[in-house]
Amino acid sequence: MKREFVTGKLSECPSYNYDVIIIGMGAAGLYAALSIDKSCNVAILNKYSEEESNSINAQGGIATVRLSDDCLENHIRDTLKAGAGLCNEEAVNVLVSESNAEIERLIEIGVPFDTENGRLCLSREGAHSHDRILHCGGDATGYHLTVTLLKEVKKRENIKIFNNLMLCDIITDDKGNAAAISVIDKNNEFLIYAQNIIIATGGIGHLYRNSTNSVCCTGDGIAAAIRAGANIDNMEFVQFHPTALIHPDLSMKFFLISEALRGEGAILLNRKGERFMLKVHPLAELAPRDIVSRAIISEMKQNDLPCVYLDISFKGRDFLKKRFPKIYEECMKRGIDIAFNWIPVIPVQHYFMGGITTDLWGRTNINGLYACGECSCTGVHGANRLASNSLLECLVFGRRCALNINGRQTVKAGKLNLPSKNKTKNIYDWQTYRSTIKDLMTKQGGIVRNKEGLKQAEEEISLYEKNLSACRLNSAAEIETLNMASVSVKILQGALNREQSVGAHFRKD
Ligand SMILES: Cc1cc2nc3c(=O)[nH]c(=O)nc-3n(C[C@H](O)[C@H](O)[C@H](O)COP(=O)(O)OP(=O)(O)OC[C@H]3O[C@@H](n4cnc5c(N)ncnc54)[C@H](O)[C@@H]3O)c2cc1C
Repeated sequence: MKREFVTGKLSECPSYNYDVIIIGMGAAGLYAALSIDKSCNVAILNKYSEEESNSINAQGGIATVRLSDDCLENHIRDTLKAGAGLCNEEAVNVLVSESNAEIERLIEIGVPFDTENGRLCLSREGAHSHDRILHCGGDATGYHLTVTLLKEVKKRENIKIFNNLMLCDIITDDKGNAAAISVIDKNNEFLIYAQNIIIATGGIGHLYRNSTNSVCCTGDGIAAAIRAGANIDNMEFVQFHPTALIHPDLSMKFFLISEALRGEGAILLNRKGERFMLKVHPLAELAPRDIVSRAIISEMKQNDLPCVYLDISFKGRDFLKKRFPKIYEECMKRGIDIAFNWIPVIPVQHYFMGGITTDLWGRTNINGLYACGECSCTGVHGANRLASNSLLECLVFGRRCALNINGRQTVKAGKLNLPSKNKTKNIYDWQTYRSTIKDLMTKQGGIVRNKEGLKQAEEEISLYEKNLSACRLNSAAEIETLNMASVSVKILQGALNREQSVGAHFRKD
């Protein structure tokens, strides 16, 4: 088994001991931490800071069935349909049937869902047949959710938070059980021992040039799990969001223009003001995301346009300021008055359906190793995610990981498989590798794919992975680059192997 370490002498590193380690402080990691028995010592870590996650940026909301004209079967049907026949139906049943209990728990700890006349407000998003999206602060659901969960976590004496500490590797013992992780803090390396390890490291957005994702999303947890021998699944399924704001100051992280705008009636227009989605799909702007994304790309290509436009100006200023305060403000900051102007948008990478394979309790094939949230593949999303099902997945399966750990008998750890050899070879030009990975993934592993392009990208990035693996990696950025290469290769291989288009995976050939 290959592993990358900064010093190569892990046995000499300082170490800590916990009952449970949770890697990631987004919705999945935080909710799992809150559901762990208070008698367990828990370490929870993030790579950069408490403000850097996809969860904190989530806008639209959380899907759940609340109204009497809707029912669990409808939500299940919509989820299966979006997943294009590749969902795990059992996992979808769990997701939907446990949704309301999780929402009640969130209300109990103070998550401020929007209400009107004392009743929860529900909106609709693409491919949902009913109004069932709960939101907070209009379009600031992720912020309110994360801040509330974090406040609760900080009250718990059994949970220790480590900020700015990066997971490098997951270490198993000689019996194959999860036993420890190695982490890097600036340039020092540590070991943290625990027999229960939850990976909740989020998505992979920064494998691509354009993404809505937080900069922390470089697929680290997935890459570390692969190195430790965990199974992965559905790697070819990457979701592109059709509408991200295009503006010169948004090159690192694109600002999302939530699907909820289209749910409220926003329409997509080309430069001539033509509503092109009408001829593409019966649901027009509310068609599944992959269909809208491809239609936009085709419209841009055909007419040589840098973007298309979203128009919601007809809703009026008062409504827009109240319902979409964050989007209103972010656009206004850039000189776009959404009550008056069309919003220039392009499709960008947004969500990852694939990841570390888990069962219904978040368990991987490695004893003691769990995964939840966007880095996991529970099977609920199949080939494409239904909008606002992902925060729900973080809650339902984050809690399920914790419940399983609470009831688990741990056995004494075996001897650790620590590496014995130092790697001395100097690092290649990792900045160039990193930049080329993003270019290749955007061009060949993006919205529209073909065999030749996938193969070329796979061969080139495999070479980077091999070169980086042979080197001593000295910094978090270098380890991230190796992780980006490893996960990219798996996405490209998945896309090559799946020759037919399905869901978010589209092969032009
Ligand atoms: C702009 C935007 C809007 C969205 N809107 C919605 C929505 O309205 N509804 C919905 O359901 N979904 C939405 N999504 C998707 C949803 O937000 C994510 O799928 C979900 O928040 C993922 O949560 P998570 O806990 O798995 O990961 P994240 O919230 O991304 O958290 C990942 C954590 O892992 C840590 N981490 C990563 N690598 C390492 C490492 N090597 N070492 C240590 N820590 C590490 C990070 O620091 C971070 O704390 C949106 C996504 C985006 C980007």
